[in-house]
Amino acid sequence: MSEQTLRCEKGDLPDDVRCGLVESLFADEQSMMLGSFVTVLSGLVIAVLTGQWAADVATVGLIVVTAMRFALFRQNRARSRLRGSGADIRRIEREYILGVCAYLFGIGALAFIAIVWSSDTFVLVLGLTVAIANTAAIALRNFAVEKGVGWQVAAVAVPLASAFLVRGGFFLLLIPMLVAPLSMFVQSSATRLRSTLLSEMSYRRRSESIAAQFDFAINNMSHGMCMISTGRLILVSNAKFAEFFGMPADAAVTHVDFTSLLSEAIERGAISHEHADRLLDLIMTANAEASQCDVQIEMAGGRLYDVTLRRHSNGSCVIVVQDVTEKREAERAIDHMARFDSVTNLRNRRAFEVALAETLAASRVGGGRTEVLFIDLDRFKQVNDTLGHKVGDKALVIAGDRLCALAGKDDFIARWGGDEFVILRTKLAGSTPIEAYAAKIIAELSRPSSIEGAEIVLGASIGIAVAIGGEPCADVILQQADMALYTAKREGRGRYRVYEDAMSRDAQERRLLELDLHVALAEQAFTLVYQPIVDLETRAVVCCEALARWIHPTRGPISPAAFVPALEELNLIHAFGAWSLQRACADAVRWPPHVRVSVNVSAKQLEADFLYDAVRRALDAAGLQANRLELEITETALLRDSQAAQNTLQRIHALGVRIALDDFGTGYSSLSHLMRFPLDKVKIDQSFTALSDKEEKAAILIENVARLSRQLGMVVTVEGVETTEQLERMKRLGPIAEGQGYLFSKPIPSAAVEKLLEGRSALHVA
Ligand code: C2E
Ligand code: MG
Ligand code: MG
Repeated sequence: MSEQTLRCEKGDLPDDVRCGLVESLFADEQSMMLGSFVTVLSGLVIAVLTGQWAADVATVGLIVVTAMRFALFRQNRARSRLRGSGADIRRIEREYILGVCAYLFGIGALAFIAIVWSSDTFVLVLGLTVAIANTAAIALRNFAVEKGVGWQVAAVAVPLASAFLVRGGFFLLLIPMLVAPLSMFVQSSATRLRSTLLSEMSYRRRSESIAAQFDFAINNMSHGMCMISTGRLILVSNAKFAEFFGMPADAAVTHVDFTSLLSEAIERGAISHEHADRLLDLIMTANAEASQCDVQIEMAGGRLYDVTLRRHSNGSCVIVVQDVTEKREAERAIDHMARFDSVTNLRNRRAFEVALAETLAASRVGGGRTEVLFIDLDRFKQVNDTLGHKVGDKALVIAGDRLCALAGKDDFIARWGGDEFVILRTKLAGSTPIEAYAAKIIAELSRPSSIEGAEIVLGASIGIAVAIGGEPCADVILQQADMALYTAKREGRGRYRVYEDAMSRDAQERRLLELDLHVALAEQAFTLVYQPIVDLETRAVVCCEALARWIHPTRGPISPAAFVPALEELNLIHAFGAWSLQRACADAVRWPPHVRVSVNVSAKQLEADFLYDAVRRALDAAGLQANRLELEITETALLRDSQAAQNTLQRIHALGVRIALDDFGTGYSSLSHLMRFPLDKVKIDQSFTALSDKEEKAAILIENVARLSRQLGMVVTVEGVETTEQLERMKRLGPIAEGQGYLFSKPIPSAAVEKLLEGRSALHVA
C-alpha cells in the first residue's frame, strides 16, 4: 500500500496518518538538542573568530530559534501523543517547519558570514560543515513533512550559494552549482523516506485493522476458542473461553501456560480434578496421534461443555468449547415428554409398552407372573364436561396420586390416555393378591375429593389380565385387560374383572354383531312393531309404542335390548333413531287421528343435538301432527347430562310433542325429574306390575307416584300387564289411566295395528 492508497477521498491524508507523521518529527528530542547545541556553539566560535556584528546577530537569532523549537518539542512531548483535529495537527506541522526553516536560515547566514567575511580557513570549514551537515540532516529528520522540505533546503542553500557567488572565483563558483543537485538529492531522499514511512504506517494500519476485526470476530463467537502452542502455551483465546474457565469475559488468557490455567481453575473451584484431567488427556492424546478429539466437560454450577480439539500439522492445536447446557436440558425435557404424561407426571403409554415388553421378555427367560390392570375412571366425562378441563385435569392428578400411594415400590403406573390408567405388577411375592389390590384401588378412587370447591366422586372399573412366563405377548395381554375392563363396565362399573376366555368369545361376537349392524342399517333391515296402549276406562287404544325388531340372517331375531346398546357404542344410534322416528310417524299418519305413536329414545340420542332436527324432519315428512308423537325417555338418559337433556326436551316439547318417562322405578326414581323435565306421562315399569299382593312397599310406591303424577298433570301408564288380576290390582292402587301389556296385545306389525284400529280385529281383553 502506498501513499496514494492511504489518501482519503479529498486527496488528503487521513488525520491519524498525518498525526503519526507529525509525531515522528518530534521523536528523538535528544539528538535534535545535541545537533542544535553543536550548531549554536559553532555559531559562537564563528562570531568570536570573525568579530563581525552580523555573526553575533545570526548566533543570537539561532539561539532564540533553538529555544523556541525546544519549547515546541517540550509542548508536544508533554502531550505524549498528538491529539486534536486535522487543523491542529497542520498548525503544529507548520510551526515545526517554520522553526526548522528559521533555524536553517540562521545556519545559512552564519555560513555566509564565514565564507564572505573571514579569510580564516577554520572558520570557513566550520561554517560550511555546519551548513552541509544540517542540510543532510533535513532528509533524515524531516522527511515526514509533506511540503516543507524544499523550503528548508532553500533556507540554507540560498545563503550558502549567495556566499560563494559574492566571494567569487572559478572553483568557489562551482560550489553553488553543486548545492543545487545536493538540494535535489536531499529533497528526493526525504520523499523516498517519507514514502517508506507511509508504507510502513499503512501496513501497520492494515494489520491493526485485521487484528481488530479478528478480535471482534473471535470475541463475538458463540463458542469459546483458544489456540495452544506445542509447549501448551495459550497463543490466542476469546472472551467465551475465559468464561468457560469461570473468569471475567475481559480477562486476558493469552501467553499463559494451559496447565497452570487448569490448576488455577481447580483452585477456584471452577472445574473438578476429574474433568481437568479429562481436558488435559484430550490435549495429550491430540498431540500424540489423533487430529481431532471431542470430550464433554462439566464445569462448576453444572454447566456442560462440548470440547473439540483440532491439531495443526505444526503441532499447535485449536480448542473449541461449546456450552451445551441448554441443549442437554432440552434433550432431557424432550426425553421426559416422550416418556411421561404432562398432566399427571406419571409414565405415559409409550413408556408402559416398553416396560411391559421388557418385563415379558425377562420372564420368558426367568419365569414369573406379570399382572396388568387397566383402570378406567367412572363418571370422569361428566366431571370434565360440567366442571371444565381444569377440574378434570386435577381429578386425574388426584387419581394418579392415589394410585401411587397404593402401589408397591416395584409397580409401574402409567396414564394410558384420557381417563384410563394402567399398572404393571411383577414383583409379587408377599404382595397383596390382585383381587384385593383391585378392590382397594376401586375403594380409593371412589373416595370423594374436593377440587376448587366442588365435591367430586369418581369411581373406577378395572380389567385385569395375567401373563405367566412371559406369555401371552404384550399385545394380547393388553387386549385381554381391555376386554376384562369392558366387561366390568358393562356389568355396571365400580367393579373389577379378571380376564376369562369367555370374554374373548363375547368380544368376538360383539365384533360380528357390530359388522352386521352396519350392514343392517345400510340395508334398512330393521322393522318396527307396535304395542297398543289402552285407556283403562274406555278400553280404547289411545297410543301404540313403536318397538324395533331385527331378524339376523343367520342368528334369527335379536332383542332390541341387545342391539340398541351396540348401536349406541358404534355411534350409529343417531342414524337409527332418525330412521325409527320417520318410520313410526309415516305409519301413525295412517291411523285414526286420536291414536298417538310413541317412540323410544336412547340416552345417547339425548346427548347430541340431532334429536330435535330428527323429530322435526320425521313430523314434516309424514305430515303428522306433533301432539300425536310421544317420545319415551328413560331416567338414565336424564341423569347423564341433565342440563343438555332438559334443553333438548324443552325444545321438542315446545313443538307439541309429548314426553313420557319410561320404566319409572327401575332407575333412580328421583321425584325431582318429575318436576324438572317437561313430562306428560309416567310409565311405571313392568317389574312393579309383576309384584304380588304381599309386596306392600312396592304397592305404596306405585300408589303414591300415580297420585303425585296425576296431581302434576301427567298421565300414568302401567307396563307389562299380563293378567286381569294384575290389571285389577293396579287399578285399585290409584288413578292409573292407561295400561300396556300382553293382556291387551303383544307388539304387532303396522298393518295389524291398522286392522285393529279400523275395528276389523279386537284386543285380547275387551
Ligand atoms: P320398553 O320401552 O320398556 O318396551 C317395552 C318392552 O316390554 C318391550 O320389549 C315389549 O315387548 C315388552 N313387553 C310389553 N308388554 C309386556 C308384557 O306384558 N310382558 C312382558 N314380559 N314384556 C312386555 P322389547 O320390544 O324387547 O324392547 C325392549 C326394550 O328395548 C324397550 O323397553 C326399549 O327400551 C328398547 N327399545 C325397543 N325398541 C327401541 C327403539 O326403537 N329405540 C330405542 N332407543 N330403544 C328401543
Ligand atoms: Mg318404551
Ligand atoms: Mg318400558
